[in-house]
Amino acid sequence: MAFDVEQARADFPILSRQVNGKPLVYLDSAASAQKPRAVIEAMSRAMEHSYANVHRGLHTLANETTDAYEAARRAVARFVNAGEGEIVFTKGGTEAINLVAAGLGAAMAPGDEVVLTEMEHHANIVPWHFLRERRGVVLKFAPVTDDGRLDLEGLQALIGPRTKVVALTHMSNVLGTINPVAEVIEAAHAAGAKVLLDGCQAIVHQAVDVKALDVDFYVFSGHKLYGPTGIGILYGKAAELAALPPYQGGGEMIGEVALEKITYADPPHRFEAGTPPILEAIGLGAAIEWLNGLDRAAIAAHEARLYARVREGLAGANWLKVIGEAPGKGAILSFTVDGAHAHDVAQILDRYGVAVRAGTHCAEPLMRRFGVTSSARASFALYNTEGEADAFVDALTRTQAFFA
Ligand code: PMP
Repeated sequence: MAFDVEQARADFPILSRQVNGKPLVYLDSAASAQKPRAVIEAMSRAMEHSYANVHRGLHTLANETTDAYEAARRAVARFVNAGEGEIVFTKGGTEAINLVAAGLGAAMAPGDEVVLTEMEHHANIVPWHFLRERRGVVLKFAPVTDDGRLDLEGLQALIGPRTKVVALTHMSNVLGTINPVAEVIEAAHAAGAKVLLDGCQAIVHQAVDVKALDVDFYVFSGHKLYGPTGIGILYGKAAELAALPPYQGGGEMIGEVALEKITYADPPHRFEAGTPPILEAIGLGAAIEWLNGLDRAAIAAHEARLYARVREGLAGANWLKVIGEAPGKGAILSFTVDGAHAHDVAQILDRYGVAVRAGTHCAEPLMRRFGVTSSARASFALYNTEGEADAFVDALTRTQAFFA
């Protein structure tokens, strides 16, 4: 199979709109990706044709909706090579990490250690800080090299007998670095520690096989994977989920409730208290089925070509500083422009129809590591074209001229 970007683009209604009188060049997909018609229609169809609450089914619509919700779970499970019972629907990647941190933290004692890295998103830092504040858990941060790689030896040196968890991003949302997760998992397991991978970015750009990785927990969000907001995935090995205490209490996560005692449902439902994000799960299932129809390796090659084209276009720009030059990195360009604040850069680019993100990217420790308070970030998705890469280079060059 090959990849035809124009054909894929045609599936995204929003991409034909104009912004400030210019064709939209959407380079903010690492924050949230646009949605193909398959997702929009699957969610509308559910609302128009067959919608009710799930798991309560004594009538046709409840049964149909439950079937659609559980079919989405199976689609996710197949997508990452997990068992159906190993996929928990959450409201996002952030909630999935909080769920694991709270659950594992419940068994931690003062002095137990959690190893993170300097390139984590706040979603994979703050829940662990809660354990530091509330349980006396010690956090250790593996260093990042000047070119934006994870210092693997540095990380390995932090793993010791008190390490309970190693939690790191599979792909950095700022640097684009793809981490050597197989080595990390091996080192962590050798020390008896569990591993959580934050796959919010990686899952979008590469095939992920949780079994082959032998990872304990893998989390991601729906909305970066061309699906809707309000839905995230926690994969956990069956035995790990079975050992994890419930996160939230409420309907649908129980076995039996009495006045003096309760029992809990088995995973994954144990972790899905209350009415879950039903439509969002259906939408994510549709996004995954849509992606399954595409050649993902060809998409990765396409995105790499776009990134290379932008770097080539900006090769002579002595006013540009790029943060993150790891070999084999994904198509995320974080940068600063000499003499300009990243927010101003983003706002001027917007006048040319180019949407980029600017700020700390929810990664303040990483910003500090690179001695900046903020950066701008252009992130590429499967629907971006070479013409858009050129339009970005052109708009950025014009933007810089404002500050020269
Ligand atoms: N981790 C990474 C690497 C991310 O890029 C993001 C989203 N910016 C998150 C976690 C949090 O995901 P969400 O906001 O969808 O919960």
